[in-house]
Amino acid sequence: MDTFYYPEHIRHDPAGLHRPENPEKNLYYSEIAQRGLVIRQAVEAAHYGPIRPPADFGVEPIGAVHDHRMISLLQTAYHDVHQDNPDGVLIPTTFRVGQRGGGHKPNTPVGLLGYYSFDIGCPVFKDSWEAAYWSAQTAVSAADHIVNSNDQVAYALCRPPGHHAAADMMGGFCYLNNAAIAANALVDQGHRVAILDVDFHHGNGTQAIFYNRSDVLFCSIHADPLEEYPYFWGYADEFGRGAGEHYNFNFPLPMGTGNAAYLEALKQALARIKLFVPTSVIISFGADIGDCDPVGGFKIDSDGFRQIGAEIRSLGLPTVVVQEGGYLLSTLGGHVVSFLDGINGRN
Ligand SMILES: [Zn+2]
Repeated sequence: MDTFYYPEHIRHDPAGLHRPENPEKNLYYSEIAQRGLVIRQAVEAAHYGPIRPPADFGVEPIGAVHDHRMISLLQTAYHDVHQDNPDGVLIPTTFRVGQRGGGHKPNTPVGLLGYYSFDIGCPVFKDSWEAAYWSAQTAVSAADHIVNSNDQVAYALCRPPGHHAAADMMGGFCYLNNAAIAANALVDQGHRVAILDVDFHHGNGTQAIFYNRSDVLFCSIHADPLEEYPYFWGYADEFGRGAGEHYNFNFPLPMGTGNAAYLEALKQALARIKLFVPTSVIISFGADIGDCDPVGGFKIDSDGFRQIGAEIRSLGLPTVVVQEGGYLLSTLGGHVVSFLDGINGRN
């Protein structure tokens, strides 16, 4: 199994952003650069084949999924406000709520960030665009690898994550939707793609991107949005719209869900995927389903992670694993490796 990884993601590190008004969950301390380092070290120690830098597929695969003004905003907003100061940050404070009105867009970088954000989870630092760009390239590189090799599994060790980012909306630490960009690139090569999201949180961005499409199936297993972020999406009655109707399936689960109930939901999701008859699968993999994760609430242990991987392996399809969340540094590496053991058929 080849792993794709962009080491310079560490220059985008929200760990330095102090948010004293949010002490309990400390969300801004969660999506820290160290996550990527911890996972990389664990994958290396488990001797899982080469760890390679992503290739550069350019902005085209990103632009095929995301709003072009949002992309150019991410490229330029920081420099427009802070020039070469390395220590600044942009945080949106005002959001478009409800109807989008006449579609007017503000002129200022911070106003536009509010236009293109649904929460305060995407602060823009000096190197955020570079990190998000290469995180997307990491996913596209892994997708390209399973198309052009005999390998069954490729691992995109992405950071920042992507599954909360919609075509024209950022949030939840996600600037660009890595899994969706990779899926769309596979569709462009004639693939029929199923995306299975096993992060603790609903993949609302991925759902939104493919909600009207029948060429990509989206299934997500996640915490019940009645109780958990992202709150407004991820309910069991969201099935898709128009041509996409019946190509979107959500499996919300209660807080405290353990291995057995999780695996039951996974079997239902895999049954949907088999009916779709895909030619390749993309897994939005969040290790935040692990027991005691600071932003999680499920109780999946190492054996559960391995079984989840093994069930996905039973599909027998080319599979791209795209890293999403996972925040408990003490168990993060072990849980990721357990999952990779399962999906690669290692005991
Ligand atoms: Zn998550």
